[in-house]
Amino acid sequence: MEQYNNIRKNDVIGMIKNLLSYFEKKNSVDSDAVEEIVRLLIRNDVGPKTSRALVESITDSKYKPIDRLKKNIVELLRSIDRKLSLPNEGVSTVLIVGANGVGKTTTVINLASALSQQGKKILVIDLDPQGNATTGLGLSNTEQSDQTIYGILNGTMAINNVIKNTKFEGLDLITSNVDLSGLEVETAGDNDRAFILKAKLAAYLNDSSASYDYILIDCPPSLSLLTVMALVSSNSLLVPLQTEFFALEGLTQLMKTIERIKVNLNPELEIQGILLTMYDRRNKLSSQVEQEARDYFKDKVYQTVIPRNVRLSEAPSHGVPVLVYD
Ligand code: ADP
Ligand code: MG
Repeated sequence: MEQYNNIRKNDVIGMIKNLLSYFEKKNSVDSDAVEEIVRLLIRNDVGPKTSRALVESITDSKYKPIDRLKKNIVELLRSIDRKLSLPNEGVSTVLIVGANGVGKTTTVINLASALSQQGKKILVIDLDPQGNATTGLGLSNTEQSDQTIYGILNGTMAINNVIKNTKFEGLDLITSNVDLSGLEVETAGDNDRAFILKAKLAAYLNDSSASYDYILIDCPPSLSLLTVMALVSSNSLLVPLQTEFFALEGLTQLMKTIERIKVNLNPELEIQGILLTMYDRRNKLSSQVEQEARDYFKDKVYQTVIPRNVRLSEAPSHGVPVLVYD
């Protein structure tokens, strides 16, 4: 990861040079130029704010004198360079994804369902207060009950008493509801709180007869306590990556967090794979993001990509995975 960050830093300096030499050869800004810049921004994982400003400034300035444009670009890129040179950004809450989601819950639901149809025994833990995996698998996220993941994490419930069967053979679920959003504040005084889920799971797996092949945890979108709990409890990570313009930006932040957790809290943590989601073959950006992701993360990126498909987005409202709905 360290190495990866260094490469990136050098890339930005290279990028500034590339851009300038690119404009050296051009005397007007056309759609090719904008496309080239977008490609560079994606490859260099420039922050969304700067990227947007840069693309806007370029698109707006089709008729501006090229020299002024060059000055704008250099100024903007300087600010990126400063940003990347910050010594240590510290641990802050970073969104893994934009407002619309990258397909975490959709992946959990459909992976769980596919595995259980192959005869595996699966436990899904819904660790998102929004409870989308809960409703997506046909259970309620509104009924008043302590029999949820919140009950487990606040110590009032044992895992045994909270696991619910779904209507799908071999697929069990620990539900979630909005109560879970209080956990972070309620456990503020507990120094070991990042380990609560891990301890509960270990105790359950040690002395219960249940034998799951896989436990899948659906995380909330932010890198909050809940996500840290999940990262501490897992040995394998699957990272959905939406094939959209700013996708790699979020991913880099996530990778940094994963690396920190690995070093400090959970040495067993490994990235199983990166899954490209909502892939649209007709959209050039999808294949660009795919290329960038494969260049960076090599064979960590699954060959299989999940296409953008309306059946996938309709299925949860019927409380079933797409394998059942379609
Ligand atoms: P997250 O859990 O990461 O927030 P979701 O799985 O809830 O993301 O997906 C976000 C939205 O995108 C949902 O409305 C979902 O139905 C939709 N969606 C997810 N994957 C696809 C896909 N491959 N094609 C079309 N829509 C999708
Ligand atoms: Mg979700």
